[in-house]
Amino acid sequence: MASSAGPEIERLIALLSKLPGLGPRSARRASLALLKRRDQLLVPLAEAMTTAAARVKTCSVCGSLDTQDPCAICSDPTRDGSLICVVEEVGALWAMERASAFRGRYHVLGGLLSALDGVGPDALKIGPLLERAAATEVREAILALPATVDGQTTAHYLAERLAASNVAVTMLARGVPVGGELDWLDDGTIAQAMRARRPA
Ligand SMILES: [Zn+2]
Repeated sequence: MASSAGPEIERLIALLSKLPGLGPRSARRASLALLKRRDQLLVPLAEAMTTAAARVKTCSVCGSLDTQDPCAICSDPTRDGSLICVVEEVGALWAMERASAFRGRYHVLGGLLSALDGVGPDALKIGPLLERAAATEVREAILALPATVDGQTTAHYLAERLAASNVAVTMLARGVPVGGELDWLDDGTIAQAMRARRPA
């Protein structure tokens, strides 16, 4: 790449362009915004990144990210230890927490089974999940996985593996989103919502 900005700035752009959702063009714009707002943005961001790199770790129980291990959720005595919500990645855990609809614990798989990408069971945190499910206090494993082919393949596999333990295995309902107009939904969602109908 022709360097017009000097090696330090080109390095900043190259690193930013590796972030999800940013290509070289948006990385260039982001770099410029950071450099223009040195004291308000660039320096505080650099400090926040250094702190995060030094202090954030992966929870040895659930796989979430926190500055403490076990994480705040795993150590919270007010959360229901009989429920484990299984998610693909930490982003899904955060989404679940934002919704404030769940007061149990989590298990982060670290990905999904994928024949196409060559991801097998050993690449995911499935063994530790089975160990946790075998604990006597656990009553239910909720599979909160994406409604994609890989998500469903993974859910099916986990349901089979968890059948040996004494926990109920459930899945999130699929169907009409809150505030959703039927007219705007795709056929697959409408068909799934019809199959998953319940007494009114
Ligand atoms: Zn944890």
